Amino acid sequence: MKAQELARELNINHKELLNFLQQNRLLRNPSAPLPPGAIEAARGQFKRSLAAPARVQPNGERKIQLAPVVTVKDLADKLHVSPVDVIKKLMASGVMATVNQVIDFGTAEIVADDFGYSVETIAVDDIVSVESEGDQVITTSREQLFSLLQEDPTKLKVRPPIVTVLGHVDHGKTSILDSIRKTKVASGEAGGITQRIGAYSVETADGAKVVFVDTPGHEAFTAMRARGASVTDVAVLVVAADDGVMPQTVEAIQHARAAEVPIVVAINKMDSEGANADRVHAELAEHGLITRHYGGEHECVHVSAKTGQGLDDLLTTIVLSTEILDLKANPDRHAIGTIVDAHLERGRGPVATVLVQNGSLRVGDYFVCGHIYGRVRALNDDRGAVVSVAPPATPVVVSGLSEVPNAGDIFQVVGSEKAARQIALTKLQELRSLVTGREFAPRLTLDEIARRAKEGEVKELNLVVKADAGGALEAVVGALQKIEDPVVQIKVVGQGVGAVNESDVLLAGVSSAIILGFNLKPNPASERAAEREKVEVRYYDVIYKLTEDVERAAKGLREPTYRQVLEGRVEILMPIRIPRQGVIAGCRVTEGKVSRGGYVKLSRGKEQIFEGGISSLKHFKDDAREMSAGQECGIGLHGFDDFQPGDVMETYRLEREEI
Ligand code: GDP
Repeated sequence: MKAQELARELNINHKELLNFLQQNRLLRNPSAPLPPGAIEAARGQFKRSLAAPARVQPNGERKIQLAPVVTVKDLADKLHVSPVDVIKKLMASGVMATVNQVIDFGTAEIVADDFGYSVETIAVDDIVSVESEGDQVITTSREQLFSLLQEDPTKLKVRPPIVTVLGHVDHGKTSILDSIRKTKVASGEAGGITQRIGAYSVETADGAKVVFVDTPGHEAFTAMRARGASVTDVAVLVVAADDGVMPQTVEAIQHARAAEVPIVVAINKMDSEGANADRVHAELAEHGLITRHYGGEHECVHVSAKTGQGLDDLLTTIVLSTEILDLKANPDRHAIGTIVDAHLERGRGPVATVLVQNGSLRVGDYFVCGHIYGRVRALNDDRGAVVSVAPPATPVVVSGLSEVPNAGDIFQVVGSEKAARQIALTKLQELRSLVTGREFAPRLTLDEIARRAKEGEVKELNLVVKADAGGALEAVVGALQKIEDPVVQIKVVGQGVGAVNESDVLLAGVSSAIILGFNLKPNPASERAAEREKVEVRYYDVIYKLTEDVERAAKGLREPTYRQVLEGRVEILMPIRIPRQGVIAGCRVTEGKVSRGGYVKLSRGKEQIFEGGISSLKHFKDDAREMSAGQECGIGLHGFDDFQPGDVMETYRLEREEI
């Protein structure tokens, strides 16, 4: 076998394999067949096992978790059958595969089904390597890593709740966090607080502990969640009594709901003149969040970060509202936690705040964090004091890292340096294959949902709806709610007025939702985010078209096809730079017409150099709907602005083909 073939078999880069072989003096001639010892060593080094125990659901259903790309061998391991059996099944359905061949999720799912297993995907970002007995590295999901199901129940002890503060900008999130931190740390130690470390713990009047994640804002919250990190047990929603429910308040509610964490409302600024708590209760109720004040389920406390009023009450309420969650952890095991903050510190090198979620972290422990591994050199608590051990639900600053990790990274302690190095290496390889895997991971589109609906795979169609105005939003959401489908339930998980933003994209990403923009224009920042998060954003300006598409998808109908209808020809006279908007083309319509919402094929000389949608059509400074032959106009395009005099655009519109 040659190196090239082996690299393919192991699903790694050819160069990476050669490096490994060279370093271990196993390679003489890169193009000659490899000696058997080299093949064995490389297989031992690069082969990953995805074996994690199959879970048996309470209803007896057997479930396995699979990464988006999986080898025949991995799949066989998970199903506890021989790879030969898997290959036979594959052959029966016409797929020829070898043991180490990578198969896609869909195929793996069919095979698993044949063996009586249902399959759950591990999101690309959610794959983690852990140590199992005998230094072996296995891959599992974040959910399983943090699950308490495998813990010995007799070792589980109650742990403090971990809280995130969300709300509209300027409603006082930071002030509340600061005020609680200053007044509620154990007495005498307050002077020790020097800097924010990303999380801190406080004590209530009764001596119960509460841990606050100190990065307020739902973007941070959802960005962590998008990476699979869910550290929060309860969300505190801050609403200013003198300002009421604002767009980001609504977003925050949606994000907390998507995370399925209880919400405690803190109506802040009760000291201010314009404070009107009643109005806030009423406005929250309008958004479906009914506070206790109104007889609902959500706890609500009136506070002032400025005077300190109600903050004790807030802490007690948080503790009470998490009691039913029965939060527990096993302090008597290797620590696992999540990075909530990390930076480079002069004199100390990289330092990271780890929120220990299970187990206890000790000085001297070997750890892995992403592809970084090392040994804990020192631990400092949230007041800067040196500690030797950090029990569950403790934020602690760790030094001894070789690089700065990212917020949301998993921090796990392992038994030996060897295991730590091995996991870190696996992680590096994983990262590489993930980069390729990500390219193949399908973007969740309405079309894809239609496909899945048809095959009975989806029961829910999640949507995030944005519109240019409140009335339009209400109309769209109202129309969507009227759609009744016997099989697929249509659920609006987020809605708001204003352009589609990154926060919407994150919410859609974690809820597997599609974003519908009504009367809005695409913007580059959200387009980029949508690309990254593999979220589909669709824009409409007619309600019935929007509802029709959603209805079709729910019914499992594919997207309609469109045909191009030629409208006219336009000649570009010169590029025009418009401040803050970019470059548009100053044009003359030479034939037919050009309409807003249409498309163009742009040619230079004989060559077509761009095809895409019209983003703006202007007659002098005014927006125009349509311009016809003989008229001059300004045309902006989505994704192209390199106009030159003499370029020609053929304009067309898309017309739906009736099926
Ligand atoms: P954030 O953007 O939600 O973190 O809000 P900040 O904590 O930065 O607060 C925004 C502004 O509101 C600041 O000027 C604070 O001084 C003020 N503020 C915060 N809490 C209170 C309060 O309880 N009462 C009054 N009167 N002002 C407050």
